[in-house]
Amino acid sequence: MSEVLSNIRPADRVVLRESSLRNSMNAVAAGLSGVISLSRGDPDLPTPPHIVEAARNALLEGATHYTNSAGMPALREAIAQTMARDNGTAYDADEIVVTAGAQEAMSCVMLALINPGDEVVVPIPGYNTYHSAIDLAGGIPVFAVTTFDEDFSLKAAHIEKVLTPKTRMVCLISPNNPTATVVPPEEVIKIAKLCVDHDLILVSDEIYAKLVFDNHRVISPAALPGMHERTITINGFSKAYAMTGWRVGWLAAPASLIPALADIHHTVAICATAASQHAALAAITGPQECFVEMLGIYAERRRVMMRGLDRIGLPYATPGGGMYIYARVTDTGLSLDEFCLKALREARVQVSPSTFFGPGGDGFVRIALLRPVEEIAEAMDRLYKVFGRVTTSA
Ligand code: PLP
Repeated sequence: MSEVLSNIRPADRVVLRESSLRNSMNAVAAGLSGVISLSRGDPDLPTPPHIVEAARNALLEGATHYTNSAGMPALREAIAQTMARDNGTAYDADEIVVTAGAQEAMSCVMLALINPGDEVVVPIPGYNTYHSAIDLAGGIPVFAVTTFDEDFSLKAAHIEKVLTPKTRMVCLISPNNPTATVVPPEEVIKIAKLCVDHDLILVSDEIYAKLVFDNHRVISPAALPGMHERTITINGFSKAYAMTGWRVGWLAAPASLIPALADIHHTVAICATAASQHAALAAITGPQECFVEMLGIYAERRRVMMRGLDRIGLPYATPGGGMYIYARVTDTGLSLDEFCLKALREARVQVSPSTFFGPGGDGFVRIALLRPVEEIAEAMDRLYKVFGRVTTSA
């Protein structure tokens, strides 16, 4: 009997990353009322009505079937044209695969291009599902560690330090999650050159690239000389158009890699949801005022949050883009777990601890700009009341 049941278990490749802090925070939050949650990366703003309307109409007109596996031709064309216009890339419509969010694109990239034992360089702190996607493919995530004193900005030098003969791919996420750091154009150029010199694939995750503040500038490495044939650009509609629940994104890759990527995408998902593709088409080809309005809302929230953190005395990385602020909490004299649990229990404010964003990350919290400005102001007041004025040590 036990011999038969020994097969009833997860595959060896599954690595469940248990977080006792995540569990304790969720348990505490469940028992509290009035918690202001600044921990999730899901925009609170609704999807603009014209986008919802396009999906509704499409459904009523029969968009209830599979589409072309790689995406509706009109959407692939619109994506290629928008990328060319906004970022100067030269991807053809046939070099676009529409996926169930950027998340699926990331898994397809790893499964289609990484062999067991290949090393993939990822920034930390960074979006940790890259690590899981690399694991899933049997690859080895290798960490390019960025630090607070460098504003967590990924540099070619961080990558160069960890290259080995087994390195196959480098992932660039700019603006980054959780640090909100934008990698400046001159550094992207250096990273691109490094990839050419070492014959590496560059994955450029540009999901936050439209959400950029002040004078920060995001460039697409795929548009740089010699980079089209080695760059995979990942993007999506979740963040820029408040469409997380629609599950639609894309990858853009050189034609030579498309058959492999499209085949894995077909195996994983067949195609992205038809109605969501119609919504995405309306988002990308329709009026962009909604997006400008959202950007203004996030900019105001960011200002209020920065003011609040300045008042408490918690230093943070320059939030050049994206939807977060990454603040250091070590000067409170508390451990990260103590800080997060005290913020939750006493201030009823939930934030994400840095240990969620890669090994070694400690002493920081990610605070999302994804609640109305009044709630953000209230959260900052509550944190001030609980922690008071913190004296910065460095
Ligand atoms: N890439 C980054 C850097 C993210 O932060 C996220 C989500 O938070 C994703 C990709 C996944 O986005 P999507 O909703 O398009 O799957």
